[in-house]
Amino acid sequence: MVSIGTNVERCKATLLLSEKHANVWAAVGIHPNNASDAKDEKIRTEIERLAEHARVVAIGETGFDTYWDDETLETQIASFRWQVNLAKRLDKAVILHIRDKDGQEESSLTAINMLKEAQYSKGILHCFNGHKGLLETGLELGWTVSFAGNLTYKKATELHEAAKSVPKERLLIETDSPFLAPVPKRGKKNEPAFVAYTAAFLAELRGESVEEVEAYTDANAIKIYGLPL
Ligand SMILES: [Zn+2]
Repeated sequence: MVSIGTNVERCKATLLLSEKHANVWAAVGIHPNNASDAKDEKIRTEIERLAEHARVVAIGETGFDTYWDDETLETQIASFRWQVNLAKRLDKAVILHIRDKDGQEESSLTAINMLKEAQYSKGILHCFNGHKGLLETGLELGWTVSFAGNLTYKKATELHEAAKSVPKERLLIETDSPFLAPVPKRGKKNEPAFVAYTAAFLAELRGESVEEVEAYTDANAIKIYGLPL
């Protein structure tokens, strides 16, 4: 499991979990909805210090969220640039969060521009939103695409199409716990074990066996996070 911190306090908590449990690794960074934190040099220094920890396998999640409007895009872009540079310096994966307002695509379009600017292939489109242009750019630049529990939702046809088209060596699944519990647990508090439902759905969708999906998503995670397994 990779557990993600969204601010300094939570990054420290997730790092403690990763020290305590052999099968938990950590990602540290500043979530786009807290992007102002990254303006503070002390906070940046603290995250940079935590990021060097051996149990930290990724930087983030960073990215662009215009759904909540908690931070301006300008602030989110500055925070992204700092975090992607940190990931590059430490040769760790960067985890990208993208959330648009319903019916809009400002976050996705910003992500496309920023991916092109970053030119860093060790990245994960986390909880992928199904945006066609972003998928195309991400795949072109070598990114990995991660689907969460909402893949299993009946009306998520864009996600279904996307999940069918991603090459198997670029696919990941995730929980996004405690959010987006997959069917048949939809509406409940999500937990990591439920990722099995997402795996089963993905297998059915792609006409593959669950064992095959499990094997290649495991292998992809081990590779992109550099897990010592
Ligand atoms: Zn996210």
